[in-house]
Amino acid sequence: MTQYSGKSVYKGISMGKVLVLKKGEYQVKRSKVENAEEEIGRVKQAGEQAQKQLQVLYDKALKEVGEASAAIFEVHQMMLEDDDYLDAIHNMIRTEMVNAEYAVAVTGDNFSEMFANMDDDYMKARSADVKDISERLIRNLSGQADADLSAMPPSIIVADDLSPSETVQMDKEKILGFVTVHGSTNSHTAILARMMNIPALIGVPMDLSKINNGIDAVVDGFAGTVIFEPSDEVRGQTETKIQDEKEKAKLLQTLKGKENVTLDGQKINLYANIGSVGDVGYVLENDAGGIGLFRSEFLYLGRNDFPTEEEQFQAYKQVLQTMAGKKVIIRTLDIGADKQVDYFNLGKEDNPAMGYRAIRICLTQTEIFKTQLRALLRSAAFGNLSIMYPMITSAEEVTRIQKIVEQVQQELEEQGVPYQIPEQGIMIETPAAVMISDELAEMVDFFSIGTNDLTQYTLAIDRQNEKLDEFYNPHHQAILRMIQMVVDHAHKHGIWVGICGELGADLALTETFVRMGVDELSVAPSMVLKIRKAVRELDVSKKNG
Ligand code: PEP
Ligand code: MG
Repeated sequence: MTQYSGKSVYKGISMGKVLVLKKGEYQVKRSKVENAEEEIGRVKQAGEQAQKQLQVLYDKALKEVGEASAAIFEVHQMMLEDDDYLDAIHNMIRTEMVNAEYAVAVTGDNFSEMFANMDDDYMKARSADVKDISERLIRNLSGQADADLSAMPPSIIVADDLSPSETVQMDKEKILGFVTVHGSTNSHTAILARMMNIPALIGVPMDLSKINNGIDAVVDGFAGTVIFEPSDEVRGQTETKIQDEKEKAKLLQTLKGKENVTLDGQKINLYANIGSVGDVGYVLENDAGGIGLFRSEFLYLGRNDFPTEEEQFQAYKQVLQTMAGKKVIIRTLDIGADKQVDYFNLGKEDNPAMGYRAIRICLTQTEIFKTQLRALLRSAAFGNLSIMYPMITSAEEVTRIQKIVEQVQQELEEQGVPYQIPEQGIMIETPAAVMISDELAEMVDFFSIGTNDLTQYTLAIDRQNEKLDEFYNPHHQAILRMIQMVVDHAHKHGIWVGICGELGADLALTETFVRMGVDELSVAPSMVLKIRKAVRELDVSKKNG
């Protein structure tokens, strides 16, 4: 039995088999070989293995997400047979007498750069594909298994770190817990874990090379511990705790269908945050009154090319129809910072959190923005949609957005495509937006306060930097006063205001938010009933403290 402690990002408990993801640890080294033909044979074998892997992925995607999305795996299969690509690898092995891994890595980099520099957008996007197939070949050559997360039994995922795009690709039904060596509590991977109701620990100082696949483990998000190969005693205690949690969850179920109202009659809307169409089930299961934040950028992650207007339209429509008239607030693309997507070719930045992200990309690469807006406006007729724009810092940005929306509207009108203009609001997640929130309130229909970024920018603390977790204090008076300021400005100008950052789910602040007059809290689905319980036990007519 080995026990480690870490930072808990979701308070839950689970027990199950471990799956260790040892990705990215393989460093390609250049070495001399005696027999070039033998190396070329290895490349051939790795290619055949890759063809089979891609066929499995194609079949799965075809079944689950349709032909359009599955096609990418066919493209990869064709690229693997491309003569130019293979000739370049073979030539390098023969002329330089180097190992197959090295030849594939160098050729992959060269081809990927060549595609990235092409003018044609389609060819540009192939850059990420070449990288992808080269990495697959290298994995196969080095004997690393392709972590097939779709075929895995329910497991506790143990990894060095997980990126948001890796996390979104996982089959949530099969994940019993996450345990990672790195990561910060405010990262999007942590947010995803909370959204999925998955016990998760980060910052666990374990040596992955000493942990074997298939051993048993207990992840206890309450105690912040993970125990590998637990004793019978620990297993017994864990089973009791899991049972207790189930009982508590059952009690919360009795709150379904009840109002979010304090004892003295003050109401608040409780909505849920989601990242994918598949999360809508959790929203309904937990009886949220609507969706307060659909992080639409997750539709762009974990794939090799931009989602088309039609793909987006279908996704938004499905969420709106499933929510059947309840409010659905879809946030436009918030890519950049920790949410990196190869095909955007954003380039490396010294300071990505303060960099080229979110609305800044949308306002400069307007075609990407317009495609999303077209899909949104078209989907609006299918339910109760609101659109929300992230990372606003100025009134000029809002004016520019409004102009682009007008253009999109005009284009749809001219093309005779049915659409509606929904409610539109902005996220207040920069100190600048807070300070001019009186001016902004006159331009939009609502505000939603993004406390994750607002805290990062106000306290000058990179939310991704695990070393700073102890300084990241979202209860800081600066943050709380800013929230009050935004609420007051919103109400003065007759618009509603919510909180969709993680702070909205902080039970220690529920009373504060109700007293401040916040109209809506949008939280992880699993938190909705817990907050409803807290709200129903409050009496804000009584003086505080
Ligand atoms: C926020 O910043 O609080 C927010 C809700 O957006 P995200 O966490 O996706 O940046
Ligand atoms: Mg944000």
